[in-house]
Amino acid sequence: MGSLFNGACLFTCWLPNILSPQGQTVPGSEPDIAWKTYDYIVVGGGLTGLTVANRLSEDSSRTVLVIENGYLVDDVSTQVPSYANSLNTGLMYDITSAPNVNIGGQTKSVWVGNVVGGGSVVNGMAFDRASAADYDAWEQLGNSGWNWNSLLPYFKKSTTFTPPSTENVKAWGITYDASYYGTNGPIQASFPNFEYSDITTIWAAYKAQGVPLPKEHASGNAVGAYWIPTALQPETQTRSDARNGYYDPIKSRSNLILATGKKVNEILFDQGLLTGYKAKGVQYVSRFDNSVKQVYASREVIMAAGSIFTPQLLQLSGLGPQDVLNAAGVRVKKNMPAVGANMQDHPNANLQFDLTNLATPNPLSGLDPAFNASAWGQYNTNRTGPITQAHGSSLAFLSLRTITDNYESIVSSIKSQNARTYLPSVYADSKLLAGFNKQRDIIANLHSRADAAVAEFPMVAFGLAIGALQRPLSRGTITLNPSNKYDAPVVQWNTFQNPIDRRIIVEMVRWLRQHWARPELKKFSPVEIVPGTGETDDEIIDALIQTKSLEASFAHMSGSCSMMPEAYGGVVGSDLLVYGVKQLSIVDGSIIPLVPATHLQATMYAVAEKAADLIKARNPVLQTPSIFNAFNIFSRWSL
Ligand SMILES: Cc1cc2nc3c(=O)[nH]c(=O)nc-3n(C[C@H](O)[C@H](O)[C@H](O)COP(=O)(O)OP(=O)(O)OC[C@H]3O[C@@H](n4cnc5c(N)ncnc54)[C@H](O)[C@@H]3O)c2cc1C
Repeated sequence: MGSLFNGACLFTCWLPNILSPQGQTVPGSEPDIAWKTYDYIVVGGGLTGLTVANRLSEDSSRTVLVIENGYLVDDVSTQVPSYANSLNTGLMYDITSAPNVNIGGQTKSVWVGNVVGGGSVVNGMAFDRASAADYDAWEQLGNSGWNWNSLLPYFKKSTTFTPPSTENVKAWGITYDASYYGTNGPIQASFPNFEYSDITTIWAAYKAQGVPLPKEHASGNAVGAYWIPTALQPETQTRSDARNGYYDPIKSRSNLILATGKKVNEILFDQGLLTGYKAKGVQYVSRFDNSVKQVYASREVIMAAGSIFTPQLLQLSGLGPQDVLNAAGVRVKKNMPAVGANMQDHPNANLQFDLTNLATPNPLSGLDPAFNASAWGQYNTNRTGPITQAHGSSLAFLSLRTITDNYESIVSSIKSQNARTYLPSVYADSKLLAGFNKQRDIIANLHSRADAAVAEFPMVAFGLAIGALQRPLSRGTITLNPSNKYDAPVVQWNTFQNPIDRRIIVEMVRWLRQHWARPELKKFSPVEIVPGTGETDDEIIDALIQTKSLEASFAHMSGSCSMMPEAYGGVVGSDLLVYGVKQLSIVDGSIIPLVPATHLQATMYAVAEKAADLIKARNPVLQTPSIFNAFNIFSRWSL
């Protein structure tokens, strides 16, 4: 069992692959976009890119071009929920992080979707939200209008909720409150038609432990053990994603073009003596023939390339830390140390317990070919059974005070630290440091509260016990590769650079050990096999490193082009426009200033919905359509 669930496993790969996905890459059509001008260019047709493109193209007088590196892929590997438990690497970029001295010099895979729909097509389908306090923290960082109350309508707008069947509610004790979800949004939030029976025993342990049990986590109170929906089409029990939710239904709009198989490698600017830099378009490389072409935007270039590639593209275009740009041979347009800094994720420890007496079926039953055949038979016949399940529907997000009596001492250590000591060198920049100090105050406050989670423990009916840190103090960086600026950027999570993150992970390991020693779980006779040893903090960390059970990422990269005041090292303001240049905005995960205690997709749909409204508001519909709004009517050659 140890080898099956090794340390490289993410939340998304809890389970063995029940059948090998027949991944296929289908090249998209090749629309002739070169040298043309659109009102908006959206860079990246992932989760946020498709959401924004849908809403902007609702106005038929505006033209919208989405440029995406990946292709349109819709097959068993993207549709079937159980496949979300193994990594769909064929539809992801092949990137490895820089080695991290804090986790034994290990490198880690960097998971990013390389397909139309981006992460929403390859992710684990968990569809949850953080607590109100997590989003209110964004406003406390100086982002006016970005808080729980202002995001709630967008959470609803993006979603259609289907309650679980009465039968399943009764059988499993699922609780929910539909009033916090939407009724006709593009993304389907529903429940799989199946649960493993042992989940009831795991729930019994949580209940007996006295953790909070909110009826509905999506209410803004996401602390405790609760049921969450999956991004799942209820009738077909297949994945609901940005592609089939936000793009397919409106792809016939004549003012919307999706160009696939094109890698943007530079944002183009006009420079005026008085006006400064104004984004005018992008340059891209075609994956079909390696040709390099340009395309132009009359209103805005909208970056939606995600937390890894948006900062890389800004840096490639001359916006970034000047030493990084100089090293890679890029002419500096504006020295912006904040581009690529403030990178956050949810680092995690993956414990494993050997369990006996698991019910049949259990998540390991998938190793048996006969079981597979019958599970597929069930799925194909009536869309029930284990194949309908992705990650499962039960999560625990707990506050620091719930997992350790030492929470006050941890909080006071945060306050007394010299923050600069544990930050990457780019934080020599005084604005970045000021922003981090502000974040640190907020984190100290959230760590001390009962209404904000610090630790995630996914509830699964077998022995994998993950503890994921929700609000790390360590900060990562994304920087150009100095040997080839067009290669994947250097991703350095700097996980556990701040010793307090390490300390909290250790508390989480201790909490998990206590949890698995509970009387309700005795029937499984749990034996810890990973890390297996270690009592002191150092011993526990060393054992986790040795067993490669410390992970830098939950694939929740965020913050690398943060929305914050410029004086706090922000890259965009609350209008999502990049500081110091014109007509360039960012709408993807990189703008998140402080990573929330949740999986990110539901939040990113809400962010993108709000972003689209902001962009629409600054580009009001003209009463008399100008001839320049007619589709593709003029083109120009590169300057
Ligand atoms: C393996 C995995 C598992 C996850 N599990 C969950 C989960 O269970 N629940 C959850 O809530 N969240 C999950 N997430 C996170 C969630 O999917 C992401 O937070 C979300 O997709 C981010 O949206 P985005 O628009 O910022 O970036 P993305 O969705 O990654 O979109 C970026 C797009 O830009 C494209 N692109 C990048 N560079 C270029 C370029 N130069 N030119 C053209 N196109 C470019 C990419 O190909 C991609 O399609 C997971 C993510 C991954 C990768």
